[in-house]
Amino acid sequence: MIDQRGQETLTGSAQSEIFQILRDGRPRTRSELATLTGLARSTVAARVDALLRTRLITPVADAASTGGRPSRQFAFDGTQHGVLGVDIGATHAHIAISDLQGTLLTDSVASIAVAEGPEAVLGWVIEEGARLVAALDAAPGFLRAIGVGLPGPVEHTTGLPVDPPIMPGWDRFDVPGMLTRAFGVPTLVDNDVNVMAVGEHDAFFPDVDDLLFVKVSTGIGAGVIASGHMHRGALGIAGDIGHVWVPEADDVPCRCGATGCLEAIAAGPAIAARLRESGLDVTGPQDVAAAVTRGDIEAVRAVRDAGRIIGRVLTTCVSLINPAVIVLGGPIANAGEHLLAGAREVIYARSTPLASGGLQIVRSRGADNAAVAGASAMAIQQVLSVDSIEALIRENA
Ligand SMILES: [Zn+2]
Repeated sequence: MIDQRGQETLTGSAQSEIFQILRDGRPRTRSELATLTGLARSTVAARVDALLRTRLITPVADAASTGGRPSRQFAFDGTQHGVLGVDIGATHAHIAISDLQGTLLTDSVASIAVAEGPEAVLGWVIEEGARLVAALDAAPGFLRAIGVGLPGPVEHTTGLPVDPPIMPGWDRFDVPGMLTRAFGVPTLVDNDVNVMAVGEHDAFFPDVDDLLFVKVSTGIGAGVIASGHMHRGALGIAGDIGHVWVPEADDVPCRCGATGCLEAIAAGPAIAARLRESGLDVTGPQDVAAAVTRGDIEAVRAVRDAGRIIGRVLTTCVSLINPAVIVLGGPIANAGEHLLAGAREVIYARSTPLASGGLQIVRSRGADNAAVAGASAMAIQQVLSVDSIEALIRENA
């Protein structure tokens, strides 16, 4: 069958088509692939050989023979290549190498403040990342892409941080350029909340099309997956719910310069300030999480109250986007069930029965690894994209 788009286009799309069919991990024979694609068996054989050379597919146990010679089967093999996931937090950096199945192979964490600037932070990422890659003793070309989550706004088209409030020296710094030069592979950058939403969705809710990930830490932000895609909005700030006005915060000043923001009353620093009034020595979200974990009654109560206030804002989000799943993440959500309980109480009480009927509200399953797993998931999506598969086939031709 001659495709009217021309032979070259057909060749390109069909290579990927065979890979995209095998990507679900189910083994198939050449003749099954020929039936599924409508291609001649000789063409399928040549393309399977090309994919075998990339090490993205592998022969698996023979299919049950129907009397004649048993047919070889082929399946996706994500173990022969990897990605580097990078989670830059306000006071830490966490990197991990995962294979294309998303299995974490090795990782490393450093206490390094994002405020030390991009050269210092990315310098550590490059040095430590190279050490982790070398220690894996993998074949050349093992590392295929890098994904990075940053604690601030990122311009989606360029991957550059834009006016990040807690990241002095990072404004429009070429993060993807610096990492791509160091490792020789593509680098994708997004803000940490979007990255966590992608990671949680890919790993734990792959069949859910509408998911809201809410991170409660120094600030409060949401990553919105709508109809199966990251929803970014006109200027890329969709999900920035930390500065929604709430009555409890009425006159309370926020770091954004306004008063009355959700963050000003329900994020880590605000909860910590309330706890300091009752004599606790706490400053940031990690301290609040630690106080909750050791069972401090005031801390538990304050976190549950914060959950209720956040829950009220989320009730509006539920009406607007009708998610199937809301995931609460970040250190305060990860410390016990208290933030979740407060949020659930309000969302289930205040949402319409139709919107909340099948709604799951859960804690992040990725927990402390959510951001680095999400950064890896973003990189894996890039590696398995049509263009990237084509490039790998050409490299191995
Ligand atoms: Zn604000």
